[in-house]
Amino acid sequence: VPFDQLDGQIWFNGEFLPWKDAKIHVLTHGLHYASSVFEGERAYGGEIFKLREHTERLIASGKILGFDLPYSAEEIDAACNELLRRQGFADAYVRPIAWRGSESMGVSAQKNRINVAIAIWQWPSYFDPEQRMKGIRLDIAEYCRPDPRTAPSRAKASGLYMICTISKHAAEAKGYADALMLDWRGHVAEATGANVFFVKDGVIHTPDPDCFLDGITRRTVIDLAQRRGYKVVVRTILPEELEGFSECFLCGTAAEVTPVSEVGPYSFQPGEITRRLVEDYMAEVTPKRLAAE
Ligand code: PMP
Repeated sequence: VPFDQLDGQIWFNGEFLPWKDAKIHVLTHGLHYASSVFEGERAYGGEIFKLREHTERLIASGKILGFDLPYSAEEIDAACNELLRRQGFADAYVRPIAWRGSESMGVSAQKNRINVAIAIWQWPSYFDPEQRMKGIRLDIAEYCRPDPRTAPSRAKASGLYMICTISKHAAEAKGYADALMLDWRGHVAEATGANVFFVKDGVIHTPDPDCFLDGITRRTVIDLAQRRGYKVVVRTILPEELEGFSECFLCGTAAEVTPVSEVGPYSFQPGEITRRLVEDYMAEVTPKRLAAE
């Protein structure tokens, strides 16, 4: 079934519409000029993990693109929760999006309406579940994460995903699951939809998100690792250093914690630290009332 033909409802500018009716005009500014920002959230056992943090990032991303969302964080959270209830899923993926509308065409769109929609669907595994625990294979992307002077790299803005789709498609065409992107200086940055971590001699290393998305999962994983007593070093990582790391994993809302077995010519073994963090992350996202059962 095509994605726009699913059953259920979509929250659209304050109303719950039948899924198939949540449409926009072809002359939408967000489509032509990428004036749109979005979020990706997951619900576990009927609760959306870190919902408020995601909603606040959505609002902040809009501000970076120069617009205010016409709904408060409370209203967006309530809409997400009510839609989850209506969709009837315990575990699901939540996608809020905000964009400039079709009131005028041209680069300038000062008066275009800011629209907001939320869709919720079931998305059990971002990467092939068969491959996932053995570790996925990553290519090294040709495109780099842009200099913060080139693009608003801290926003979760649709426009920044153009190079992610190109890079992911190029990697998939070569048989890889995803691509690792370097930044504009040639430092290791992130995958096309997840942050990256490495392990060496029991210490965890991850790049400083100074020109790419500071994932909410990334922050959760750092916290979980520190609670386990692992040392986490946030620092510049050069691609040549990949040879010296024993473990590698990705993390993100959709990807959760996914072990990596290869990045271009370098190989890794999903080891104890990766396995513990996969488990700790799943325990962390499970609502406390379910964990107690
Ligand atoms: N980087 C990119 C490019 C992403 O799309 C995502 C997923 N939103 C992440 C990192 C991880 O962010 P989060 O943990 O907040 O989902």
